[in-house]
Amino acid sequence: MPTPSETPEFNERYSRQTRFAPFGAQGQHNLEHTHVLVMGAGALGSHIAEQLVRMGIGKLTIVDMDIVELTNLHRQALYDETDVTEMRPKVYALADKLKVINSNVEVDPIYEEITSTNIETMIQDINPDILLDGMDHFAIRFLFNEVCHKLNLPWIYGAAVGGKGSVYAIDYTGPCLRCFMEETPETAESCAINGVIPPVIMQVVSYQIAELMRYVSGKGFSGKLITVSPFEVKQQSMDVSRFKNPNCTVCAQGNYEYLGKRQSNVIEGSCGDTFVFRFKPDHFDNADLFPGQILKANPYVKLLNVDGYEATLFKDGRMNVHHIEDENTAETLYRTLLKAVK
Ligand SMILES: [Zn+2]
Repeated sequence: MPTPSETPEFNERYSRQTRFAPFGAQGQHNLEHTHVLVMGAGALGSHIAEQLVRMGIGKLTIVDMDIVELTNLHRQALYDETDVTEMRPKVYALADKLKVINSNVEVDPIYEEITSTNIETMIQDINPDILLDGMDHFAIRFLFNEVCHKLNLPWIYGAAVGGKGSVYAIDYTGPCLRCFMEETPETAESCAINGVIPPVIMQVVSYQIAELMRYVSGKGFSGKLITVSPFEVKQQSMDVSRFKNPNCTVCAQGNYEYLGKRQSNVIEGSCGDTFVFRFKPDHFDNADLFPGQILKANPYVKLLNVDGYEATLFKDGRMNVHHIEDENTAETLYRTLLKAVK
């Protein structure tokens, strides 16, 4: 039995990228034997997933625990209005569409939240060759940086917010993210507040995919920190090898500040005026105990009106409450809800 890469149909399918000599048939062969883990199925993650599946990646695992919302559609790949109406989890909506695009690719959707306490076991279980960052909030990248260093896993950081984006592919030879980013950078600002435009997403994803192609074809990562501002028609790439910090807490000392750290907050501010409340998973099944109404429900998520606020309750007990004025209001509401379900 010939492997898929030896059949004429397969050769034809990918001919336009294999004829690009620096990638070539060898690059394609290696790509076909690569397992990519995409963290996040939002703007970056959905575009990365679509492109890799079209290109014939061997296996793709996608982790996310959000549902498709109307405000996602302007910049995220493959989702549509039906997904919004049905409140479909992004990973399942994406997996269905990816299977139709390329049935040769094994796609494994994981509907789970990524946290500092579950990430290490999650990655060990998935056992990918490389991790691609498709997240939309910054702090989690310090967690990726630590876990990938600990597990010796190469990863490609990508961030997009407002009109700006940045990409950096990291392995053990170069500086890690912590070497040159002690503080959360400008691109750490929230998309809900600062917006984000589609061309930034496309450019960030382009460079992430290009770095991945370099990696699988044996050229190695570029070692450049790439920043793009398509609206300003500007871009920059900077050699960051000189930023390798010999005293870096992560890549020199192996001290992991974020990894394994317990989440103490039951309430946290999320994007803009949304707060995340944490209840127990069984509160999902007993959602009728919350004051208010269940407006819509499917097996994964329930849309509620709690005390006049619109809220999305997930299977794991997470609740996103929208349009809350401030933290005090959030705390009062959380206490009220907790009392009602106890
Ligand atoms: Zn470092």
